[in-house]
Amino acid sequence: MFNTKKLIVGLMVLFTSLSNIQAAQKEIYIPGSGELKKVEVTKTEKLPVLYYNGYIITMDGDTPQYADAVVEKDGKIAFVGSKANAQNKYANARMIDLKGNTMLPGFLDPHSHFMSAIRMVNQVNVAAHPVGTATNIPQIIEKLKAFVEEKHVPEDGWVLGWGYDQDLLDEKRHITKVDLDKAFPKRKVLIIHVSMHGAVLNSQALKWAGIDANTKTPDGGVIARMPNSTEPAGLMMETAYIPIFAKLPQPSETEMLDLMKPAQMMYTSNGYTQAIEGFSHTSDVDFLIKAASQDRNFIDILALPAFTEMDKWFNNPKYPFGVYNKKLKLQACKITLDGSPQGKTALVSHPYHGGGPSGQKDWKGESSITQEQLDGITKKLFDAKIPMHIHTNGDGAIDMMIKTVKKAGITAKDDKRTVIVHSQFQRPEHLPEYVTLGLTPSYFSLHTYYWGDVHIKNIGKKAAFFISPIKAATEQGIVYSNHTDFNVTPLDPFWVLWSAMARESREGVIIGPDQRVDAYTALQGLTTGPAWQVFEENRKGSIKEGMLADFVVIKNNPLKQKVSDIKDNEVLATIKEGRVVYKKIGI
Ligand SMILES: [Zn+2]
Repeated sequence: MFNTKKLIVGLMVLFTSLSNIQAAQKEIYIPGSGELKKVEVTKTEKLPVLYYNGYIITMDGDTPQYADAVVEKDGKIAFVGSKANAQNKYANARMIDLKGNTMLPGFLDPHSHFMSAIRMVNQVNVAAHPVGTATNIPQIIEKLKAFVEEKHVPEDGWVLGWGYDQDLLDEKRHITKVDLDKAFPKRKVLIIHVSMHGAVLNSQALKWAGIDANTKTPDGGVIARMPNSTEPAGLMMETAYIPIFAKLPQPSETEMLDLMKPAQMMYTSNGYTQAIEGFSHTSDVDFLIKAASQDRNFIDILALPAFTEMDKWFNNPKYPFGVYNKKLKLQACKITLDGSPQGKTALVSHPYHGGGPSGQKDWKGESSITQEQLDGITKKLFDAKIPMHIHTNGDGAIDMMIKTVKKAGITAKDDKRTVIVHSQFQRPEHLPEYVTLGLTPSYFSLHTYYWGDVHIKNIGKKAAFFISPIKAATEQGIVYSNHTDFNVTPLDPFWVLWSAMARESREGVIIGPDQRVDAYTALQGLTTGPAWQVFEENRKGSIKEGMLADFVVIKNNPLKQKVSDIKDNEVLATIKEGRVVYKKIGI
């Protein structure tokens, strides 16, 4: 007999499943067009995932703790404990064998410049070790040629490279247009010098820039010339380079949106599940808001709107602070208070040895704004409950910052978590002030390697050896983080850890032996420290039930490695809220 009731129920089931398919339609953006397209996605229920058989370092607490197993469910950590209990509780879980590798909470970038990653994706890394692999000019040319092949750069197109350092090349000289013209007679080539204060251009690029034998060298600039001639040789520095840099072709918004993925991959391939955009122009913030609204973020991106454009974003409902919207959060206002110690532009309390960058006598560097201006901005931000991340390198700038926080009547009890970015040349007496006032340093221990030798020359051994004093700070209970300031140095987290543990300079000098820390303390600078600094210690930075399932799987356990081996570790996989966002192995 024909059963009407059954037919109706059957049709209802059919309709329900059809409506499910409807609901499973997803809008995606077509690369290169910025256009929306609806695609159908098959909805499958995601099973819990159980990770086991590895060194699972939880970063929960002041001493190392290992977990036997971790279960991820719906993007969060559902269980931490023994494998048997995990299997009992989550019998249907997909099992992931970590095969003796090490799992940690996803690394959290405490300070870098995400927009640099966007801009660098389409440029060639021609730096020497450890930033890149080029050791001589022919190798640089090979890298540029490979880029042309890979990206199908048109005949009249641009080839941009970055990071060459003549002192680290076998030839020990600058690259010239002659080196470049042979391989690139038609394309425009420009290679940015490691200092970022200049570049080498080939003949086509010089022609585009309007530089020829009649071009006068501007004050404060350098135009290298061919021997016995006024013909430009290719190298343009300082004021001669600035107008060229400003004129360089910029990617379109559509191109930049498409670069969101490879830019984030630069972070995830280094184990990071959080990236900071460390000095955001309002145009950058607008771009990031647009990218996030199109679901392009697969890691957390935290932007720091710049103090120089406060009039545009302050009290503007378009720019709410402290809330996530599709993995984008405006975290804090970024203030740049002084320059860099290697450039002798950081504000210090005692004159630099050998004078200022232009030979000035009794030179102590400068602050970008006055104490009164700083006091005014600080009060405005504190009143509006907007946190501050403030670039302060020299001890003179740190003095200014301490003064301003005292004047505002803020102490640790107010829990403002004011991040002193770099905080490099603290004096020992600054540390108890940080404790009382609730200031938290984001150190830059990689300086010990890259510029440790220069600092000894510029400011003397005593101050240089106390750079980024992680040991002294943690002994006083100060929460700290440790950053790369990418693209100032590479994102590699293992070099960050190694530099905090070894503090060894390029010339092999141990820059402050008593400030070296153990692996666990070094790891805190990339996990629990940065999480706390952005008010997210209950969300990420450690492996605990209820936290986001953000993990990094690495080859070797840093807690068991020799210090000299730390920097050679490898990221195998990065997982953001349960989703694999980078993998090197089949995980
Ligand atoms: Zn920076």
